[in-house]
Amino acid sequence: MMFSAFCPTHDSTVLMTRRNVVGFDDTDDGPVLRWRCGCGHLGTLDRNGSHAPAAPVLQTIRS
Ligand SMILES: [Zn+2]
Repeated sequence: MMFSAFCPTHDSTVLMTRRNVVGFDDTDDGPVLRWRCGCGHLGTLDRNGSHAPAAPVLQTIRS
């Protein structure tokens, strides 16, 4: 599994693998993939594309 997401820290689109996936959320709009870039930036990916906060956000990652 590979996908790309925009990472604000890199300021570019980064290619990621399943090793970057930290979880899935089921929402009313469908499954949302949660990713963590190699630089530590966290974001999400849904059917509309990738989303990430402009500044790095420390979050508790569910295991
Ligand atoms: Zn990054």
